[in-house]
Amino acid sequence: MVFCINCGQQHPDGTRFCRFCGNQQPGEQLLQRLRIEAQQIQSIRLQMQAQQNQNNPYQQRRW
Ligand SMILES: [Zn+2]
Repeated sequence: MVFCINCGQQHPDGTRFCRFCGNQQPGEQLLQRLRIEAQQIQSIRLQMQAQQNQNNPYQQRRW
């Protein structure tokens, strides 16, 4: 099952348009791309957090 990104109603997989609000649903390719982007952002965040933990807190405040 998928959910409409606009109105939040449930749809069977593969629905192109929302039955309730007419919003176009993201395709599988787009969803996959978004998942990859989210993973990349998460890994960058983890790296930044790791660097901040290593850094001196006084140096952090300068930027
Ligand atoms: Zn909808």
